[in-house]
Amino acid sequence: MPATILSGKEIAATIKNRVTEHLHAFKEQGITPNIAAIQVGDNPSSSIYLKAQRNHCLSVGISHQLQQIPADVSTETLAALIQRLNENPAIQGIILQMPLPAHLDASLFQSMISPVKDIEGVNPENIGKIIYGKARLAPCTALAATRLIEETGIDPYGKEMVIVGHSEIVGKPLALLWLNKFATLSVCHIATSQSGHLQSHVERAEILVVAVGKAHLIPGSWIREGAIVIDVGINRVHGTIIGDVEYETAKERASWITPVPGGVGPVTTAMLLHNIIEATKWQMSL
Ligand code: NDP
Repeated sequence: MPATILSGKEIAATIKNRVTEHLHAFKEQGITPNIAAIQVGDNPSSSIYLKAQRNHCLSVGISHQLQQIPADVSTETLAALIQRLNENPAIQGIILQMPLPAHLDASLFQSMISPVKDIEGVNPENIGKIIYGKARLAPCTALAATRLIEETGIDPYGKEMVIVGHSEIVGKPLALLWLNKFATLSVCHIATSQSGHLQSHVERAEILVVAVGKAHLIPGSWIREGAIVIDVGINRVHGTIIGDVEYETAKERASWITPVPGGVGPVTTAMLLHNIIEATKWQMSL
């Protein structure tokens, strides 16, 4: 039987409804969350992404201001800007758009963002808290994959979970989030592929998350019968967007699967709004 499609659009709408309820409650207390997004340089993909992000925020009543900084900004000037935003009580969330120019150390600036305003969940303090199951803010894509898996109603206890890709914003935080739920984790990366072991890991997965950015890296024939398949990958091929998993064949074997586009993407966007609410609540409690 073909898989049930996990519609990211529907789940995102549910998350947005909850966000709207919180925003109403904030408004009654005179608070409208305000986001500052920093873009260093004028990378066209980043500009498109930030415009879409701004529209999502405005659509639910969250203010969003873009701080565009020249690409040759010094470490000191960027650090001073982040510090000013950290100290500004009118700003509830800070986004530092990646990538940064090569002369700037991304992890240094991520660690400068106040943990309570870190709505992308990239500050080491927030990432570290995932280990203890105590993160209030975590990377949006890892949260989105989590939300999508939870939607299936699966009990993760002892399940074989395989994550392909070990980036800081997806694979690694996701692995920690699901270790805390007692799934049995395998995390695969380039060395797994190069040593020829990727297929055997993927074939074992009852829950499979792929976040690599290589079109159709995972053939549908590798998918375990009845698996949950979460495809994070976004690849533009001949003018269309496709995922890392060979969708048409995978959906004949999986029990649940995310489409690309329309799966993880909309939920990731909604999770940013969710994080803005969490950050605002956190700051209100201080
Ligand atoms: P990164 O490039 O940071 O990470 C990719 C990961 O894939 C790395 O861990 C890399 O390992 C691993 N990898 C590369 N080649 C292989 C291979 N042949 N076999 C196994 N693993 C491999 O990317 P991101 O995590 O930022 O994003 C991954 C994908 O998800 C991209 O397509 C991106 O566009 C998409 N994305 C989608 C989002 C959404 O909302 N839908 C949000 C964020 C990302 P190593 O480092 O060892 O080389």
